[in-house]
Amino acid sequence: MTAKVTDELSFRDSVNLSIDKAMATLDLPEGLAYYIKTTHDVYQVRFPVKLNGRVESFLGWRAVHSGHRLPAKGGIRFSIGVNQDEVEALAALMTYKCALVNVPFGGSKGGLVIDPKKYNEDELEKITRRFAFELIKKDYIHPSINVPAPDMGTGAREMAWIADTFKAFHPDNIDHMACVTGKPVSQGGIHGRTEATGRGVVMGLREFFRHPKDVQKAGLEGSLEGKKIIVQGLGNVGYYTASILSKEDGADVVAILEFDGGLYDPKGLDVEDVAQYKKANNGVKGYPNAKYVEDSALLLEEECDILIPAAMEAVIDKGNAARLKAKLIAEAANGPVTFGADAILQEKGIMIIPDTYLNAGGVTVSYFEWIKNLSHIRFGRMQRRHEEKKYEAIMAALESDGRRVPDYIGAALRQGPSEIDLVRSGLDDTMREAFQAIRERFWTNNQIESYRIAAMSIAIEKVADAYREGGVYP
Ligand code: GLU
Repeated sequence: MTAKVTDELSFRDSVNLSIDKAMATLDLPEGLAYYIKTTHDVYQVRFPVKLNGRVESFLGWRAVHSGHRLPAKGGIRFSIGVNQDEVEALAALMTYKCALVNVPFGGSKGGLVIDPKKYNEDELEKITRRFAFELIKKDYIHPSINVPAPDMGTGAREMAWIADTFKAFHPDNIDHMACVTGKPVSQGGIHGRTEATGRGVVMGLREFFRHPKDVQKAGLEGSLEGKKIIVQGLGNVGYYTASILSKEDGADVVAILEFDGGLYDPKGLDVEDVAQYKKANNGVKGYPNAKYVEDSALLLEEECDILIPAAMEAVIDKGNAARLKAKLIAEAANGPVTFGADAILQEKGIMIIPDTYLNAGGVTVSYFEWIKNLSHIRFGRMQRRHEEKKYEAIMAALESDGRRVPDYIGAALRQGPSEIDLVRSGLDDTMREAFQAIRERFWTNNQIESYRIAAMSIAIEKVADAYREGGVYP
């Protein structure tokens, strides 16, 4: 991607300006509004790790934007570009995201300045465990206070190391597994967490398309089938979003943008094939079955129905917003559209489904994982066979007079829900309800200009209620 030169605000200031807009539509006492908006605490740490006989220093942060509900929740990012402003902005987005989708957590985020590609697995384990130890020492990792999860540059492997480090320091804490989410299933994780953010994005889009008035406002019609989609970033979130949209919804992913270039095919790319090629070749350059564009940012400006930025913040800014041709922007990443760009897109009539809502699937399933860890039992373990028996009896009763229940209905009824069924059902319910609340506010309050401001105003109201009703200590 080309480096961009614009006079944009910092990420945190950009988030806060949207918050100001949302707060202006609510009747909040000034002091409370200020407190809700600001980061409550942030810990910066520099620590040494001995690698190949040499001491290397690493710099990291964990910010708690809000602890109105505990634990505070949010991922840990490993990236060379991490800084305190970014960590605070992401922590704030976690607060609003959790409040919006009724996940009872505060907002937090962590970051470590590192290029993970430069280290081998053993080195990464040492670094991750040492960072985790620094955070554990100060209670920035703890099942009831602060619970990290994967984010850019981290995944299930790092979460397993963090969980194991916590257990080593707190073997007497029976809930130690719940100190971090996004773990491998064999290490206390939950089925469906890896795909959760991407699947949540698709569930959010499906819900949008269930509302013709909204679809029409975006200048679209029908369903996701046949829609032309551009996906920026084929990491965890981008991959699952693109894969599910093309496999389950019949959408055409016409472009995929990556760090080393972009691929374009107006007839639709084979997402699995691209993903396999990317894995084998550490990038998309040289992929034989599509047009390759070296400056992938140019593909953001291609004709499409839905543009899905799924990698990082500020990819759509004042520099390129005016040239976008998408009808709908679906923010799978955190903060991909800057405050300045948002105003330009608004002017152009391009609708945005905002990050605070659309990528909340990850933390929603993290919530399910946390509950699973605290209850020490897999979802469905007690009920599954019981339900199967019950439906078997219903089927037998229905068929007792000689009629036959068609096989496809019988097969669905005979199968009790597995953990993944329950996780997807809970995620779908969460995404559908939250979208309905957003659109309801958007269409009924004429002070509210966009889904983003609607989503934020709902979230702020919930955080404010927690303080109003719970009081402020002492
Ligand atoms: N890092 C993800 C996010 O930004 C997931 C956070 C979590 O599961 O706690 O939403």
